Amino acid sequence: MANLSFFKSVSDYFDNAAQHLKYPKGLLDQIKVPNSVLSLRFPVKIAGKIEIIEAYRVQHSHHKVPCKGGIRYAMGVNQDEVTALAALMTLKCAIVDVPFGGAKGGIRIDARKYTDQQLQRITRRYTTELIKKKFIGPGIDVPAPDYGTGAKEMAWILDTYTTFNPDQIDAYGCVTGKPVNLGGIRGRTEATGLGVFYGIREFCDQAEDMKALKLNTGLEGKTVVVQGFGNVGYWSAKFFQNAGAIVVGIAEYDGAVYNPKGLDIDALSKHVKASGSITNFAGSKSLPSNAGLEIECDILIPAAIESVIHKENAKNIKAKIIGEAANGPITPAGEKILLKKKIAILPDTFLNAGGVTVSYFEWLKNLSHVRFGRMDKRFYENSTSLMLDTVERITDKKVNKRDRKQIVKGADEIDLVYSGLEETMINAFHEIRETYKRKKTISDLRTAAFVVSIDKIAKSYLSLGIFP
Ligand code: NAD
Repeated sequence: MANLSFFKSVSDYFDNAAQHLKYPKGLLDQIKVPNSVLSLRFPVKIAGKIEIIEAYRVQHSHHKVPCKGGIRYAMGVNQDEVTALAALMTLKCAIVDVPFGGAKGGIRIDARKYTDQQLQRITRRYTTELIKKKFIGPGIDVPAPDYGTGAKEMAWILDTYTTFNPDQIDAYGCVTGKPVNLGGIRGRTEATGLGVFYGIREFCDQAEDMKALKLNTGLEGKTVVVQGFGNVGYWSAKFFQNAGAIVVGIAEYDGAVYNPKGLDIDALSKHVKASGSITNFAGSKSLPSNAGLEIECDILIPAAIESVIHKENAKNIKAKIIGEAANGPITPAGEKILLKKKIAILPDTFLNAGGVTVSYFEWLKNLSHVRFGRMDKRFYENSTSLMLDTVERITDKKVNKRDRKQIVKGADEIDLVYSGLEETMINAFHEIRETYKRKKTISDLRTAAFVVSIDKIAKSYLSLGIFP
């Protein structure tokens, strides 16, 4: 598996989708290739010894700026992987109409092996390298969390950047996924998982599509399995449980747990924090890690790393729907087998775009220097209240207290973020679905998603006038 180039498989998907569009080869090549690749080696003193750290930042596309994409800390990081993930970001931003070019960063470390102080030193040095090379800035390239990173690392990046750029009024827009008290936005932590939920829910609401899969419409009672119980996996599982689905299995790198009646997601999260492992969770059956993917269920959500479903295990997958919360969790050879089995795949370029969508909202907040809802919440509440008073007076009828509270409530930042994300995911889903239904030669949703995004990017390039 390790020898298979991830970027090559993204490029193959690209070429396959591009056949359905009529653009010149040169333009398509420009959309496909990475525009700037930064490969770094820098020294950091760890426990009295110098360690040479391998790191990358790839800006895949400059057709829109800034570039945008997460930073991952993992031992699998290499130039090919970061380039592939950056390319997926370009396509993803286009699909959800986020006006950025794609980028990705990675540091080749096992974050679990370092103390917080050591991680902070590595993160700050990496950021300094990005500043030196002009690979970071609110108008240049804006990192975010990804596998192995979170708000903590984003705060260190912000602090390093603002230290070197004390006079930049928009400096807080240099990174997203920050803690809320440092210019972050409410809802960013759960954004990717929530986007996964909105995307799959919309698919499950399509009676025609569900009938084709021999499933009932809606989420109620559907069984779900999630692989990866980190940020994206935890939040996806939680939103599905809240909506009435039954999360029967969760898989981690050290084992999986299964309960046909459903797992309590918050209790499982507490168990993992207390014991350090997902296994031996009360009331559940422990399974080997790989067996988790093969549990019988309606919806399987890989939310860990790439290439976990491949030609050896694809035949054993029993789910009817696979929602790609992780980037590239299915290899091309694995996908062929799944499609033959008529399993519906909601592709990563669409399904995990909730993170970048809310990152975009955070960036807008940083540039406008004001919290969403601050200016108009009270105004809306006062004027709606006045309107209700008037209606009550004219009709001589009272609206009950509970209804009044709901009608009058103005939107907080979190309400606006959730509603903006829901709107984005639903619109993007229908754009992809309509392309899939309209073009009879397109046989799967991944190809349709690539077609939608390549078409939008090509049109942007043509508008720039550089491809007469
Ligand atoms: P995370 O580090 O918070 O969680 C990943 C989890 O997967 C960890 O708990 C890890 O132990 C587990 N894991 C690793 N290998 C595994 C394996 N072989 N089997 C089972 N579990 C395994 O990372 P995350 O932010 O949740 O990201 C997960 C995936 O989602 C990645 O592919 C990432 O690129 C993608 N993604 C993340 C975001 C985001 O906002 N964080 C946005 C878009 C896409």
